[in-house]
Amino acid sequence: MGKGIWILAEPRDKALPRVVFEMLGEARRLAAPGGEEVTAVLLGHSLEPLVAELEKYGTDRVFLYDHADLAEYNLQVYSKILADLIVKDPPRVMLLPANAHGRELAPSVAIKVKSGMASDCIRFSHEGAFHGIRPAYAGKVLVTLEYTGDGPSIATVRPNQLAMGELREGHKATIVKMEFEKPQGLRAKLLEVKKPEQGATMEVTEATIVVSGGRGLGAKENFSLCESLASVLGAAVGASRMAVDAGWREHKYQVGQTGKVVTPNIYIACGISGAIQHQVGMNQSKCIVAINKDPEANIFKLADYGIVGDIFTILPLLTQECRTMLGSEVLA
Ligand code: FAD
Repeated sequence: MGKGIWILAEPRDKALPRVVFEMLGEARRLAAPGGEEVTAVLLGHSLEPLVAELEKYGTDRVFLYDHADLAEYNLQVYSKILADLIVKDPPRVMLLPANAHGRELAPSVAIKVKSGMASDCIRFSHEGAFHGIRPAYAGKVLVTLEYTGDGPSIATVRPNQLAMGELREGHKATIVKMEFEKPQGLRAKLLEVKKPEQGATMEVTEATIVVSGGRGLGAKENFSLCESLASVLGAAVGASRMAVDAGWREHKYQVGQTGKVVTPNIYIACGISGAIQHQVGMNQSKCIVAINKDPEANIFKLADYGIVGDIFTILPLLTQECRTMLGSEVLA
C-alpha cells in the first residue's frame, strides 16, 4: 500500500482550474489522519508561476514536468508519465479532475498500474476501507465504491462539489524538477489546436454558474440573451438537447443524459421544460433558477427560484439588474 495523496494539476490557458484547488482541499483532508504528504503532479509548459499557487493551498511536494513538448495534452504521453511515477513511488490515493482529460487519463493510468478506479466522485470516506462516493441513476442514489487490492486508489473528482483548500500563506513545498523526454512511436500527433468560437465559450462542466437555453429561445441568434447574462455573471452557456438538435449551440454545450453533467453553484434554465433527460445533467446544481412562461413546466418542480414569464422580457431585465448590482465585479 502506497503513502500520500496525489492530485493532477494540469493548467488550462496558463492557469490552474478551480477543481485543482478543490482536489487539494480534499487531499489535505484525506492526508490529515495519517500525517501523509500531499503531492501535486504539475504538467505543461511555463509552469513556474503556478507552483506558488499550489504551495499556497497546502501542497507539500510538486513533481514539476515543465517542457515545451508537454504544452498540449497527449493521452499517451501524460498517462505514461503518471504511470511511471506511480510505479516508482506509489501514493495511497491519486485524484484527477472529472473533465475531458481526467476522464480519459484516469482509466488509462489505472490499467497501467493495475489499480482500481472510481469515476465522477463527489466525496470520499474511510470507513474500514477507502471509498469513493458518486451519484448514479440521475443523481437519485449515491453509490459507494470500495477499492480492493494494494494499488493506489485512483479517482476522478467532479468539479464544484468539494470545498476548496484553505489558504496557507507561507506554506512551502518541495519542488522536484522532473526530466522529460518525448517518447518515440506516439500513436497520436497534434496537428492543430482550434480555439472555440467567440462568445461565452467557457466549458460548462467547470463553470460555477451556468446559464442554459432551450427551445423557448426560438432561434439561434436569441442565444445572445443567455450569452449577455452569462458574460455579466462570468458564467458558461449551456443548452438543452432541443437547442442543440436545432443547430443553435454546439453539442459540447449540451447538458443532460446525452450531453454533459454539470454541478455549478447556480444553474439558470431559460426556456427549458425540464425533461428527465435534461434534469440528469443539472439536478446536482446547488441552486437552480428557472425562467419559463408555463407555470406547469417540470423545471419548476426542481427549481429553488422560479420566474414565470417570457424570457424575452425577463432575461434583458435580469441582465441589466445584475450588471447594475455587480458593476465590473464578476460573480463566478
Ligand atoms: P421543450 O421541451 O420544447 O421546452 C421548451 C420550454 O420553453 C417549454 O417549457 C416552454 O414553456 C418554454 N418556453 C417557450 N417559449 C418561452 C418563452 N418565450 N419564455 C419562457 N419560456 C418559454 N434533452 C436534454 O436537454 N439533454 C440531453 O442530454 C437529452 N438526452 C436525451 C436522450 C434521449 C435518449 C432522449 C429520448 C431524449 C433526450 N433529451 C435530452 C431530450 C428531452 O427529452 C427533451 O426533449 C428536451 O430536453 C427538451 O428541450 P427543451 O426543454 O429545450 O424544449
